[in-house]
Amino acid sequence: MALIVHKYGGTSMGSTERIRNVAKRVAKWARAGHQMVVVPSAMSGETNRLLGLAKELAPAKPDDAYGRELDMLAATGEQVSSALLAIALQAEGMGSVSYAGWQVPIRTDSSYTKARIESIDDARVRADLDAGRVVIVTGFQGMDDEGNITTLGRGGSDTSAVAVAAAMKAAECLIYTDVDGVYTTDPRVVPDARRLTTVSFEEMLEMASMGSKVLQIRSVEFAGKYKVPLRVLSSFTPWDIDINEEAASGTLITFEEDEHMEQAVVSGIAFNRDEAKISILGVPDTPGIAYQILGVIADANIDVDVIIQNVSKDGKTDFSFTCNRGDYAKAMDLLKTQVLPKLSAKEVLGDTKICKVSIVGIGMRSHVGIASKMFRVLSEEGINIQMISTSEIKTSVVIDEKYMELAVRALHKAFDLDQSIPEN
Ligand code: ADP
Ligand code: ASP
Ligand code: MG
Repeated sequence: MALIVHKYGGTSMGSTERIRNVAKRVAKWARAGHQMVVVPSAMSGETNRLLGLAKELAPAKPDDAYGRELDMLAATGEQVSSALLAIALQAEGMGSVSYAGWQVPIRTDSSYTKARIESIDDARVRADLDAGRVVIVTGFQGMDDEGNITTLGRGGSDTSAVAVAAAMKAAECLIYTDVDGVYTTDPRVVPDARRLTTVSFEEMLEMASMGSKVLQIRSVEFAGKYKVPLRVLSSFTPWDIDINEEAASGTLITFEEDEHMEQAVVSGIAFNRDEAKISILGVPDTPGIAYQILGVIADANIDVDVIIQNVSKDGKTDFSFTCNRGDYAKAMDLLKTQVLPKLSAKEVLGDTKICKVSIVGIGMRSHVGIASKMFRVLSEEGINIQMISTSEIKTSVVIDEKYMELAVRALHKAFDLDQSIPEN
């Protein structure tokens, strides 16, 4: 008998029929004696629909006044699905209550559309659990110090669930989704992708940060920081499947490396089409230049990813970096208005038609030649590499977006990810 957090994604909550199924599954867990907290996403397509309405009225603007209203708007999606799930649970004869993020409260900073959770007060939730109720907490949202509603970035319900599990010291956080676990790569792109029974926390962190949207990166960070046992599994199994079988299904994120993991040099391939590349040409090659360029970008709360500075010629160099496509217009504007005139650089060039493909694996620590094999595979496919970045357990390349699927499929095959690894 334990405190368990379930998270259900948009597809899993996509219709009243599916919500009824979620309710039956959750009721099964509660009747088995567990204290249940459930974190739902908005019904599938709803967040896009809401944000689309805003865009119809005014194009996306990077100011706080607009961001505040986007969060006010988008947070309603999860409020709807949470209330519907509570109603469905009550219809199953299970006491249940739903809370919006601000009612818990889940406190965040004030970065609208990408707020970070700062603290969670679990008193109210705990009181309901102790009274025998299932508690539904809306995913994706919180409240800042001034009482404004904030949202946690796309896919943020994963983070809500793991943060609630961490705050309440839950025995496990189960992320129910429309695939039955974490695969070697997105099974929608590579049908031969294999499900991993376990994946190390570090690999999951790299895969999520390199674009595998099966888990939002911050949810993995939280799980690592607070050692929350985390499992990704399917919400499409019959709701009345044996609870022990269900509890052992999917993919477990592990915190200890075992021999089994050591065997695979590359465990997964991630890709990200949400980035854009910006290059500033002809900047003086003197101390402080990177800071002058990226300081302005960081002050605007824009995350930068791959960074490259070329060798200099005649005291001038070219400086390139990637950022999220959503931040591209803002970054270009800042560079043109604030950086270019100060540095007397030649020009700023932008490219939004790029993508990043990464190979990830703990085994890369102890094997040489993995990156060069990646480059060989890409060259054999005639794919030009624009940027490269590496860490101990990953190598990423930035390439033309139109070659993304080709690159992912070729790498998946070349690293034998379609072949099963013997179980230990
Ligand atoms: P949810 O709505 O449940 O949060 P998401 O769409 O956010 O679901 O995440 C699940 C999707 O992530 C899958 O349908 C799959 O297409 C995609 N995905 C990307 N990379 C992977 C991977 N390595 N393993 C499994 N799924 C992946
Ligand atoms: N509904 C939000 C989104 O679509 C949060 C989530 O699904 O995790 O991004
Ligand atoms: Mg998601």
